[in-house]
Amino acid sequence: MQIITDPLHMQAIAEKLRLNRQLIGVVMTMGALHEGHLSLINEARKIAGTIILTIFVNPKQFAPHEDFHRYPRPFEQDAAHAKAAGVDYVFAPPVEAVYSENFQTTVHPGPLGEQFEGKQRPGHFSGVATIVTKLLQITRPHIAVFGEKDAQQLAVIKRLVKDLNIDVQIIEAPIIRDENGLAISSRNIYLSAKERDAATVLYKGLCHAERRIAEPCLDLDTIVPEVETIIKSSLSCRPEYICFVDDETFQPASKAEKGKTYRLLLAVQTGTVRLIDNRKFMV
Ligand code: AMP
Repeated sequence: MQIITDPLHMQAIAEKLRLNRQLIGVVMTMGALHEGHLSLINEARKIAGTIILTIFVNPKQFAPHEDFHRYPRPFEQDAAHAKAAGVDYVFAPPVEAVYSENFQTTVHPGPLGEQFEGKQRPGHFSGVATIVTKLLQITRPHIAVFGEKDAQQLAVIKRLVKDLNIDVQIIEAPIIRDENGLAISSRNIYLSAKERDAATVLYKGLCHAERRIAEPCLDLDTIVPEVETIIKSSLSCRPEYICFVDDETFQPASKAEKGKTYRLLLAVQTGTVRLIDNRKFMV
């Protein structure tokens, strides 16, 4: 496994791999690798012959009050995990190599990036869209795997690739959870044992919605307050949003129509930690 820090070097390697007819798969992360990230690498390996893992804590997707400076960066440990997972190249550039002094071009997703996470975290999705576009240009992959854990991010990236005619196939990978149902996240280390326990209400809420939709209850508006009650049953959990959306457009949905796919989106403040989770429902 090679560790590359220079974008031009990475691009030259990717170009050479393409000339040698290698199928390149990329997995983009901010590091602090966990089972969720490793599952994406496994998905990529099912399809691609060469795997590039990017590790970059992207300052442009953090608001000034967010955790950019304290975000975990256990690089040695990440490199060992990547090697064990069969990664061929780790691309981990320093911030200055990605954003030069005169950097000024950004990618703005449209309305898809303006609600939910985009509303709670202004500027977040232009930061994401810009870095994803840059990393796709640098690593030149045939496929790129992203987790459903960040469902709105995935929708923004799928839209961006279509809108900007980027020649890459986007693969979605399912959410990996711990034994209590909590979606694994690098930020879970900020949770105290008590908060981690309390946070299981997110998964309970999603499971409740699944049962209700299976009944079938197509009136999504009646399910939302039920999920809210479950989440609020934990005193340390404060919901920011609970909303069903059309899985394609991310437009809020009140009533479900047979044959369509919806997603329940959750953002919940648990103590000092903000958690997001979601589940897809085919009606
Ligand atoms: P991050 O390092 O948090 O920016 O995440 C990098 C990629 O890993 C994104 O595509 C995430 O959606 C994905 N990811 C993060 N957590 C999980 C999880 N628990 N299950 C599956 N994918 C995940």
